[in-house]
Amino acid sequence: MSSSSSRRVTLLGATGSIGRSTLAVIARHSEAYELYAVTAQRSREALLEICLRFEPARAVIGTQHDAEWLRSRLQEAGLTRIDVCHGEAALLEVSQAPEVDTVMSAIVGAAGLLPTLAAVEAGKRVLLANKEALVMSGGLFMDAVSRHGATLLPIDSEHNAIYQCLPMQHRDGLSRVGVSRLLLTASGGPFREWSLAALETVTPDQACAHPNWSMGRKISTDSATMMNKGLELIEACWLFDATPAQVEVVVHPQSIIHSMVGYADGSVLAQMGNPDMRTPIAYGLAWPSRIDAGVEPLDLFAVSRLDFESPDEVRFPCLRLAREAMVAGGTAPASLNAANEVAVQAFLDGKLSFLGIARLVQATLEATEVRAADSLDVVLCEDARARQLAERLLHQRSFQRGRT
Ligand code: NAD
Ligand code: MG
Repeated sequence: MSSSSSRRVTLLGATGSIGRSTLAVIARHSEAYELYAVTAQRSREALLEICLRFEPARAVIGTQHDAEWLRSRLQEAGLTRIDVCHGEAALLEVSQAPEVDTVMSAIVGAAGLLPTLAAVEAGKRVLLANKEALVMSGGLFMDAVSRHGATLLPIDSEHNAIYQCLPMQHRDGLSRVGVSRLLLTASGGPFREWSLAALETVTPDQACAHPNWSMGRKISTDSATMMNKGLELIEACWLFDATPAQVEVVVHPQSIIHSMVGYADGSVLAQMGNPDMRTPIAYGLAWPSRIDAGVEPLDLFAVSRLDFESPDEVRFPCLRLAREAMVAGGTAPASLNAANEVAVQAFLDGKLSFLGIARLVQATLEATEVRAADSLDVVLCEDARARQLAERLLHQRSFQRGRT
């Protein structure tokens, strides 16, 4: 139970991979953090378990039907004081509630944008795991952060590493603090050494079996195509006010260095640790202090070596597509993200081949005009347009399964 000095947290996407890691860190420090609200889209059993264990003040689920189910299970357990709601409006409400200090944004995909932005507009401490929000609306999002005095802490391990390797004053501009480049590390995913011919045959289960990280199916697929690194390149440009040319991708198969910052004097600072999301989550919860995340200390003798390679954009064209979208600017990254979400879902549903993902994203972008991303309406409209276009292209003969 809480004390008056504990921080109240809304956990958006509590049943996911980041959600569970966040719960694990909070459980270790129950005197310091209190769950105000937990949310999930469909997994009602998992949300019920979380409610029984953590007794938050509020729970939000996708549909009214599931909300009623959850309410009666909680009633049976004697937990009638947990307020259960459903739908998008409730997500915005728990992100902005005056009782809340910290919002963990761990919904997957574009669905995370509006609740995350709501937390920013309420001036909260926002722990940003959901990268798609920033990819879609980067300039608008960062403007809102400064206008509303929100504290934005990156949770994506690479950006969290870069944040840790930058001096506090980096907001004044990277060159002012002597930064020459950001080195974004990538594991290379499960198919780093596969030939193009072998990549033709990749199944969803193979794509979701990441060698170093255990994650949700969407981001696991993005890691396998390297679209994840492309989205992260865009995310890094917005978070640190960098140009795409200042962000270098370095394949580092061991995932021990989580990213690096290169300085004008030749220094390169790296942040290292075992690949475990509880580390960046604990950093974000406790910043500027440090707390125990429950992660094993890094055993350098067991790691023994660190390898580095350059990425192969022929076998993994998604990285190039993302960089090109960032260079094109405006709504191009939002269209890229939308097309990718459609493509990844189609791949996971067995309707599109693995190599078809990049082809569908490219075809969508080639048929899309770039507009200035000067309002959220424009961004959401381009997101919807790219989704429709990608769905339409998906039904063309050339994208049918087995025809990549
Ligand atoms: P996940 O699929 O495991 O969980 C997603 C969560 O979002 C679930 O709680 C689900 O109920 C909720 N959700 C899904 N669709 C929703 C919708 N339409 N409306 C409201 N809620 C919805 O995903 P994850 O792997 O935990 O990733 C979450 C986010 O964090 C993603 O944006 C991902 O890119 C980012 N991220 C994840 C990791 C990781 O290690 N898993 C690392 C870095 C960044
Ligand atoms: Mg990452």
